[in-house]
Amino acid sequence: MTHGGGLQTPIRFLKGVGDSRAQVLNRLGIESVGDLLMHIPRRYEDRSVSTPLNEVKGREQVSVRGHVLSCGWMEPKTGKGFFEAMLSDSHGVASCRWFNARYLEDRITKGMELIAHGKVIRHRGRSVILQPEWEVAGKQSGAAHQERIVPIYPLTESLPQKTLRMMLWNAVEEFENALVEILPDELMERLHLPGIREAIRAVHFPETLEDAAAAHDRLVYNEFLSIQLVLVYRKTRAETVTKGHVHAGSGAMRAKFLDTLDFELTGAQKRVIREIEADMRSSAPMHRLLQGDVGSGKTVVAACALFDAIDGGAQTVIMAPTEVLARQHFRIFGRFLTRMGIDSALLVGDLSTAERRNVLSGLKSGRIKLAVGTHALIYDKVNFDRLALVVIDEQHKFGVGQRAELYAKGDHPDVLVMTATPIPRTLGMTVYGDLDVSIIDELPANRQQIVTRVIKQAQLAEAYIFLKKQVDQGRQCYVIYPLVGESEVLELKAAETMYEELKQYTFPGDRLGLLHGQMSNKGKNEVMRAFKEHEVDILVSTTVVEVGIDVPNATVMLIENAERFGLAQLHQLRGRVGRGEHKSYCILQGDIKGVDSWKRLKIMEETTDGFRIAEEDLKIRGMGNLLGKEQSGFPGFKLGDPVADTRLLIDSRDEAFRIAQADPEAVDPAYALLRTYAKDIYRRTFAEIG
Ligand code: ADP
Ligand code: MG
Repeated sequence: MTHGGGLQTPIRFLKGVGDSRAQVLNRLGIESVGDLLMHIPRRYEDRSVSTPLNEVKGREQVSVRGHVLSCGWMEPKTGKGFFEAMLSDSHGVASCRWFNARYLEDRITKGMELIAHGKVIRHRGRSVILQPEWEVAGKQSGAAHQERIVPIYPLTESLPQKTLRMMLWNAVEEFENALVEILPDELMERLHLPGIREAIRAVHFPETLEDAAAAHDRLVYNEFLSIQLVLVYRKTRAETVTKGHVHAGSGAMRAKFLDTLDFELTGAQKRVIREIEADMRSSAPMHRLLQGDVGSGKTVVAACALFDAIDGGAQTVIMAPTEVLARQHFRIFGRFLTRMGIDSALLVGDLSTAERRNVLSGLKSGRIKLAVGTHALIYDKVNFDRLALVVIDEQHKFGVGQRAELYAKGDHPDVLVMTATPIPRTLGMTVYGDLDVSIIDELPANRQQIVTRVIKQAQLAEAYIFLKKQVDQGRQCYVIYPLVGESEVLELKAAETMYEELKQYTFPGDRLGLLHGQMSNKGKNEVMRAFKEHEVDILVSTTVVEVGIDVPNATVMLIENAERFGLAQLHQLRGRVGRGEHKSYCILQGDIKGVDSWKRLKIMEETTDGFRIAEEDLKIRGMGNLLGKEQSGFPGFKLGDPVADTRLLIDSRDEAFRIAQADPEAVDPAYALLRTYAKDIYRRTFAEIG
């Protein structure tokens, strides 16, 4: 918890730990006694009531107490040997059995009184308690494990439940007094939260399950409130800083750009453009998240913001996670600016030295008004004259740190981050807790509903015939293969071998292209260009096409081994089709052996609503997975779960706003400990992304 007293004591010094167990605990992220105290139970077992031995029946967990009537090592003719102890109490008898536990011969003897807890099975008409946890009755060391509500912890290899529980028992006994309260009394009273000592004791060794629940909530609240406090202060401070840029262009350039489009903006696009414009015209720096489902048209919104800023004389930048996407943006923005007589530049990893030097000097002098690029933009040598607007596309593919490095290249620039990953509200509060949010909640009217089908391996041949027909009608298709395992090398093989196979045997007369992450940038660009210009009919690819790619003539997205992807990711991939006037299809070939994964894929047939899909994914796969592996912007909560503990999250956010309002300068001593703790937790929670 807080740093006072002995909580920083290295875990190896705790009674019952020592060097080798300390190493095991380190694997659970437990370095100090304080860390151990925050290792909270996964669930509890109520062992407070013993079952009379005559009532021990099959298939339940029981706690019993009885004297050993007889015991010994048994070796049946077939099967494993076991140690058996027959217990008796005033009601009846029941036996306990431990396989491969000959050592119990020395530990359990006739006449002893035992307390045991375990699962009952029926064996040859008798009830047997299998592999129970046990203690000699009346022994002090048993207090942690028996005749009470017992905590069950998340474990790691070679750390038995009982050993860990005993460590926690000792830690609570010895270090409870070192725990320092960080919440003001007033707050705890108002919200009916138990104090920290009470909470730590009750979360590990509760008297009742209600106590355990209250203790759990208090600890989760600590964590949520801390993180919200940092986010909310950051947000309220940003709003009161007045040194941002006031963009004061005429809007003429934006109007000219919109004239070049062959469509009308949707109502939602117009609305978010107004929201962004208002931010940009104010002196407080903009910190805005633009959320809009795949294909909702975020790029034109970004273009309006960029052109407005350039119109007012500012320098701007847009960063995308892949070179393919950066090039796509550059084609749109750069071409238009060139016609306006304004310099822009593409900045990616593999420019020639001369090109690169030219771009860097143009940015430094202010001659280049727009830089489009990948993370190559954040390198040290890139400097701007007066960078006043930063746009980050597919922001979830970047870490918080990378984003911050780009902002730092300007002096309080306006910042617009865009994402197509639909973030349920609760998650939004955590990942984007310091941003204002604009949402495009409407797709362009000309959009085709995408027909989605989940198919089995055996139906792939049919699917290929369908692709062939589409190609014959002049359309284009994607065929996607997953990462196989974690190995980049294997990934390459899957897409590559399938490419050869499809080219030779399945689509011999058609033009196929191959795209994967291991290719050179030059190779990737060439394939993407060819696909875009319809020199390629079928693009065989890995998930590199997941973000941003816009080829309106593509109408089929076939994903093989679709069970390997998260729903949110499938949704992104599906968003690559249905972008033009033609009816579009998404075919998901799944593994029928996994019933659950099949059901999961079926959700894709039911809905094209990105938010619903994200919610489902969140329920099934948990938070980390929703946003994908590379989703480094996601905080790793230790205790709280934004989904299960939504109420606490919302309450903590309200409270954080209340505190920030009451104490805008963050000087009130009542919150001093909480503030220190909050910074620490925030840093640790976001550590891997900092
Ligand atoms: P995303 O939000 O996924 O980044 P894009 O900005 O790539 O979507 O837009 C998808 C496609 O829709 C592009 O081809 C774009 O030109 C087109 N588009 C954008 N806005 C509209 C609109 N209001 N009406 C019709 N088409 C639009
Ligand atoms: Mg996009």
